[in-house]
Amino acid sequence: MNQHLLQQFQQIFNQPAQNLFFSPGRVNLIGEHIDYNGGLVMPCAITPGTYLVIAPNQDNVFRFRSLNFDDKAEIPVGSDYQKQGSVWYNYPMGVITYFLKEGKQLQGLDMLYYGDIPIGSGLSSSASIEVATAFALNQLFNSGFSKLELVKLSKWVENVFIGLNSGIMDQFAVAFGEKDKALKLNCDTLDYEPVDCKLGDYLLAIINTNKLRKLAESKYNERVQECQTALKALQQELSIDNLCDIDTATYNQHEHLITDETVKKRARHVIEENDRVKLAAKELAANNLKGFGELMFASHQSLRDLYEVSGKELDTIADYGRTNPDVAGARMTGAGFGGCGIALVKKDGFDRFVKEFTDYYTEKIGYAPSVYSSLIGDGVGELSMADA
Ligand code: ADP
Ligand code: MG
Repeated sequence: MNQHLLQQFQQIFNQPAQNLFFSPGRVNLIGEHIDYNGGLVMPCAITPGTYLVIAPNQDNVFRFRSLNFDDKAEIPVGSDYQKQGSVWYNYPMGVITYFLKEGKQLQGLDMLYYGDIPIGSGLSSSASIEVATAFALNQLFNSGFSKLELVKLSKWVENVFIGLNSGIMDQFAVAFGEKDKALKLNCDTLDYEPVDCKLGDYLLAIINTNKLRKLAESKYNERVQECQTALKALQQELSIDNLCDIDTATYNQHEHLITDETVKKRARHVIEENDRVKLAAKELAANNLKGFGELMFASHQSLRDLYEVSGKELDTIADYGRTNPDVAGARMTGAGFGGCGIALVKKDGFDRFVKEFTDYYTEKIGYAPSVYSSLIGDGVGELSMADA
């Protein structure tokens, strides 16, 4: 593929490529809907991602092409670019806008992107293209941003330039991911710890429900509100800043402070899920993927029953996982109401899993899912052109 990309670059821009960069997508392995409660998430970089082939040009323009989209652009270096509709090159132009805003010197570039992540399905192809671009510019022009600054500026692109309200986990995982490691991350403090996560005989199955996430945004805001209500109630007796400042045992003693039954369920999910992330890190450290898988199932159940952000499509993934002995664990990942699920599946049973699960899902839901296999890969970096 890489060789093909370099040839495409030469054909499109009529000059050889100078550098090749890669930035992965990500999944959150466990720790769902708790980042906004001061809790721990555990994302990892996946092996599908975004390739960026790049070379400076002498024409003082940024030229954008993507093998995933038909539209292309040529934007003069000095122009005051404003976001245009929903064109894809808003993402790299957002990054460029940030660099210029910070007084960084840039020059004309020819840029070709190609992503082998399913785009728009919750695996963060957007963070991937942002971080790929930011990393590449930083290196080419010696702009002097640290990796963490690249993460933050990519988040700025997503939140301010594109206008999507989302946390820092995606950009962080895409930039700091490491092969065979999950990242135990506190999204508030940005304290993080890479945790060994060797998949061994297993593969990570990424399952796109192919259901549009229609409800996700309004329900997300509702959950944030409910968590705040729970926090206020607990603060009557506890001096805490976030729900995740307490563990399940402490919550059990104070749950009575919350009057609303629904709010109780939301708080219980958040606090138990945070405890599960800590347990998950221990299971991974002990290389116990089965134990980790059980926590994935438990996480799903809690998101379904207590937090109520799943849905029959995502439930079908966990339900099927329970029936197949090759599946160590399965759960929804991301905000819910559609999007993707993940499962840990034995390598030698993977083909059977894909076939059986696809049939099971299609019969229950009425249309087919998309199933991909992935390993846990490295974060953003430059690839050697010699190896391409
Ligand atoms: P997700 O992040 O879940 O994949 P988003 O809607 O947040 O979905 O981001 C997808 C958008 O990111 C695409 O519509 C496109 O604008 C941009 N994008 C991602 N990958 C590429 C790519 N390889 N080439 C061009 N644009 C891309
Ligand atoms: Mg996105």
